[in-house]
Amino acid sequence: MTEDADLLRARGLRVTQGRLAVLGVLERLPHADADDVHRALGASGVDTSVQAVHNVLADLTAAGVVRRFEPARSPARYERRVGDNHHHAVCASCGRVDDVDCVVGEAPCMHADAPAGFEVQAAEVTFVGLCADCANPA
Ligand SMILES: [Zn+2]
Ligand SMILES: [Zn+2]
Repeated sequence: MTEDADLLRARGLRVTQGRLAVLGVLERLPHADADDVHRALGASGVDTSVQAVHNVLADLTAAGVVRRFEPARSPARYERRVGDNHHHAVCASCGRVDDVDCVVGEAPCMHADAPAGFEVQAAEVTFVGLCADCANPA
């Protein structure tokens, strides 16, 4: 908890109970969406609104403390693993999300045939398929 407070200060954010609570949830539930975070907070006795959770997540994302990504047809997910340009494998059946290490480790790790003059800053890759459980139901 103290480390999280230091992290917030280092990124120029005020330390609030709400921000610390959301970081605590994302520590346990990487790739959670705002509803997941809200539910987890409620389960641990923190009384807050979904809108308040969205606001906290937006602040944390803007400050680079949290990374946001949006799998197709799914709400935005949030995670604390930032700065390593990793990618995601999303199960099309159950929605499970796993991290996929980036071979290069920094953005952009891929260069496409971009329009003339277009400056590539990042390449976000989402691998879509079936997770092991969905591909081989017991
Ligand atoms: Zn699955
Ligand atoms: Zn991730």
